[in-house]
Amino acid sequence: MLLPRLERIPYALLPRLLHFALAAVAMLAGCVSSPRSTPPAATTILVSLDGFHPDYLSRFEPTTLNALAREGVWAAHLESIFPTKTFPNHYTLVTGRYADGHGIVSNTMRDSELGYFSLGTRSAVVDGRWWDDAEPIWVTLHKAGLRSAMYFWPGSEAEIHGIRPDDYKTFDSEVPGLTRVDWVMEALARPPSERPHLISLYFEDVDGAGHRTGPHGDETRRAIAAVDGYLGQLVERLVAQDLLDAVNLVITSDHGMASTSADSVVLLDDFISLDAVAVTDWDPILALEPDGMALDTVLARLERMPHVSFFKKEEIPARLHYQDHHRIPSIIGIAEVGWRISSRDYFQNNRARFDGGTHGYDPAHAAMHGIFIARGPAFKEGIIVDGFANIHVYALLCAVLGVAPAPNDGDLEAIRHVLR
Ligand SMILES: [Zn+2]
Repeated sequence: MLLPRLERIPYALLPRLLHFALAAVAMLAGCVSSPRSTPPAATTILVSLDGFHPDYLSRFEPTTLNALAREGVWAAHLESIFPTKTFPNHYTLVTGRYADGHGIVSNTMRDSELGYFSLGTRSAVVDGRWWDDAEPIWVTLHKAGLRSAMYFWPGSEAEIHGIRPDDYKTFDSEVPGLTRVDWVMEALARPPSERPHLISLYFEDVDGAGHRTGPHGDETRRAIAAVDGYLGQLVERLVAQDLLDAVNLVITSDHGMASTSADSVVLLDDFISLDAVAVTDWDPILALEPDGMALDTVLARLERMPHVSFFKKEEIPARLHYQDHHRIPSIIGIAEVGWRISSRDYFQNNRARFDGGTHGYDPAHAAMHGIFIARGPAFKEGIIVDGFANIHVYALLCAVLGVAPAPNDGDLEAIRHVLR
């Protein structure tokens, strides 16, 4: 079924007519110079819909997302890097590096010099030393004399290589979705000399709902509708400003979501004393260091655990690109998709939390895939392409923005066919 082009769908008509009417009034009043002239072709809006799996597009039929996908480039999926967690993958999208190259090896990690990192540890999140193994795109843009406004993108609150985005916000999950859309429109409305060339927009709703009720849950359905509504507002306002065809919209997600159940949980302390290991990451990827017990003894005990594959750091499969960083501990356990890992205490007190969904598993599993949709002057129209790896997105963004990429693990040639 062909959907009408976004410009022509009825909800878009009224603001557009209003825009023309207001423009006519402004001209009559002698105010011909509008502050909202068309931005340079390179203005790109990079959207992250945390935890959005490609199946959601067909299962829940979000109107705006599906219309954007049909009008632009629609990839079958976006393959995440290992571990399929939020911070590592967001940083890959903007650096083109695997986790062992960019150093954000998980959402929680330990560094012998810097200490402990978690999403909630403000002092770590804003400390550039955690992030500066790689060059994020806002640093690349700054070096080329271009501007960025990175709203809620992991890493954007830190000074990296001495540089911050021209505009960024302290993450606050309480900020309503429509306020985040306002920020994008405010940035686009700036005079050309101040307007960002790259603006990011982030929504965590679908990930949160996916964790609580799983990828098939009612709350997930509602979160997708809400996020699609925010994007609908963005499109409507771009249309009203005559900007929809002037900006490049690149919509991604960091990873997918797998269904989990409290009946499919393995408990670490059934296999080894928790005093014998220092655990930095639990579920569904176990990251640990022996603590007073020989590594081979620890490993021999852990290998009795069902549904989890354990690897010494140097034996982690090469395709996962997860060996060469000092923040990766000596032993990594990877649960089978759908299985969770906990301690007896935590599980007994939080059993309900394991009914729902999670991510972090092997990126080769389809449940861990994310989405890629792109629409705008840089992209081909109405094409569906095979899935590709998210390490290529940084090189693609650099090509769209006309800047030379920093060294990275991606390859523009792998996805050049999406460009006009
Ligand atoms: Zn995420």
